[in-house]
Parts: sequence; C-alpha cells; structure tokens
Amino acid sequence: MARKHVNLGTAPDKRDLPQKTCAVCAKPFTWRRKWARDWDQVKVCSDRCRAAGTGS
Ligand SMILES: [Zn+2]
Repeated sequence: MARKHVNLGTAPDKRDLPQKTCAVCAKPFTWRRKWARDWDQVKVCSDRCRAAGTGS
C-alpha cells in the first residue's frame, strides 16, 4: 500500500507571469499588478527608466 505523493497541482509560480525587456536598461522585468491595465503599453521597468527613456 505504498502511497505516492503525486504533485499534479500546479503551484502558483512567479515564473508564470509575463516578462518583458526594458527598452531603456535592457533588463528583464516581470508583470506587476500595477501594470495590469496597460501591460501592452509598458516598455520600461520603472518610473526611473521611463524618465530616462526617449519616449515622451
Ligand atoms: Zn529599465
């Protein structure tokens, strides 16, 4: 009667979150809740990079 621990459930994983590369510092950054509304338009990882970026 061996009882196996089968872990079929998919644990929530931060790696499941979408990622982008910052257009300014070229570092990868991960989806954040505050970007939920306009993730498509997010191009930089932070306000700092946005300020440094060329985009107006
Ligand atoms: Zn950046």
